[in-house]
Amino acid sequence: MEKEKLIRAAIDNLPGAYAPYSHFQVSAALLCRDGSIYTGFNIENAAYSAAVCAERSAIFRAVCDGKREFEAIAVCGGKDGVITDYCAPCGVCRQVMREFCSPADFLVIMAKSPEDYVEMTLKELLPRSFGPENLA
Ligand SMILES: [Zn+2]
Repeated sequence: MEKEKLIRAAIDNLPGAYAPYSHFQVSAALLCRDGSIYTGFNIENAAYSAAVCAERSAIFRAVCDGKREFEAIAVCGGKDGVITDYCAPCGVCRQVMREFCSPADFLVIMAKSPEDYVEMTLKELLPRSFGPENLA
């Protein structure tokens, strides 16, 4: 996997983030098993709870296109689109990842730049999680 390429896709996508209220822009780039990359960014709303995160934007775009198998996601963000720290997915996004991704294998890459990033598996970010097999 080309992590740097995935991170670059997330960073390039960051200026589009719609965050007029928090001014905290976040972008994500999702790598599908077939090699395709889907990007997403946070989309806020005047009714705050209607907002959606970058990670879910990317995942939902991919799922709407019929994708179901994912290998990694790169996430970046910061106030006014200036990346100063590693941006971790919120709890809701971790749970959405859990629906479609193997916890032990799916990689979450939190990036400041293509050269400066932290990576963790979904299992590390969401231990003892609840998933589809729990309802089987
Ligand atoms: Zn989130």
